[in-house]
Amino acid sequence: MVSKKKCSCGRKVVFFRKYEGSYLCRQCFLKSIEKKFKRTIRKYGMLKSGDKIAVALSGGKDSSTVLYLMNKIVKPRRDIDLIAIMIDEGTGDYRKKHLELAKKFCKKLGVEYHIFSFKDEFGKGMKQKVKEIDKGKVKVKEPCTYCGVGRRYILNKRARELGVTKLCMGHNLDDEVQAVILNDVRGELYRASRMGPVTDWSLRKKKGKLFIPRIKPLREVPEKESAIFSILVDFDLCWDKCPYAGGIRFDAKDFINNLEKKYPGIKFTILETFDRLLPHIRDFSDKREGKIHSCKKCGEPGSKEVCKTCELWR
Ligand code: SF4
Ligand code: ZN
Repeated sequence: MVSKKKCSCGRKVVFFRKYEGSYLCRQCFLKSIEKKFKRTIRKYGMLKSGDKIAVALSGGKDSSTVLYLMNKIVKPRRDIDLIAIMIDEGTGDYRKKHLELAKKFCKKLGVEYHIFSFKDEFGKGMKQKVKEIDKGKVKVKEPCTYCGVGRRYILNKRARELGVTKLCMGHNLDDEVQAVILNDVRGELYRASRMGPVTDWSLRKKKGKLFIPRIKPLREVPEKESAIFSILVDFDLCWDKCPYAGGIRFDAKDFINNLEKKYPGIKFTILETFDRLLPHIRDFSDKREGKIHSCKKCGEPGSKEVCKTCELWR
């Protein structure tokens, strides 16, 4: 039993890390997450002098953990700026609660923040979009597709206007592994080519600078551990779920969690294998997908003449 074991430092155990076979006390657990976070940043050269980092802050456990740890690293440095960008997708009261708590969190940490909304950008939010889906007015039926496309668009556009050099995302290990599996089963190689710990289009394509590079320092931390971290540090969070959550991603989540239960550590193996394949996926996709276009309607970058956001939202 977990409770009878001791952490290697002698303190009381709060967490059993099955894939490592290690029993951890509160302090050693928190330290291990911070260490992994810093190691990922070093390993992929995510921070450079002169950077202006924007954390995409949803107010959930993952992005709050990322903001907290990033602030710890960046605060003593004078050569790197840190801000937070929040998006109000218009998914209702649950989102409002998240945003209020996220604002308070930024104030507590002394981090500058900016909020942008779907309503201001597209003239409507997710609530109206879901009504259109229900009435059968639109082709694509999954709310999360509209939400994800719209959010990425606003984040990129606004970050560029704010002079941000890197967008820091809150994706954890589970998010990444789900995306690997989903891109696989859907045959979405172009999407897969945009994954990885760092995505920097400026290195690969003409007009690539229009996409702000993305970094994911939490991608080797399992979702469960990110949740425990946020509870142990005592972040003020709202745990309500989005009313529109559903679809194939959630089936993939169950499938992967069942595998992990039977074969501890398999999530890491899936991600490591993907990372080894990524350079080849990028090569293949770059040859086939061609160049980056400036959208005919809005001027923002995309893979086609009219960007996905204009196609879905305008
Ligand atoms: Fe948006 Fe889907 Fe996430 Fe809800 S669950 S916030 S609709 S992406
Ligand atoms: Zn467009």
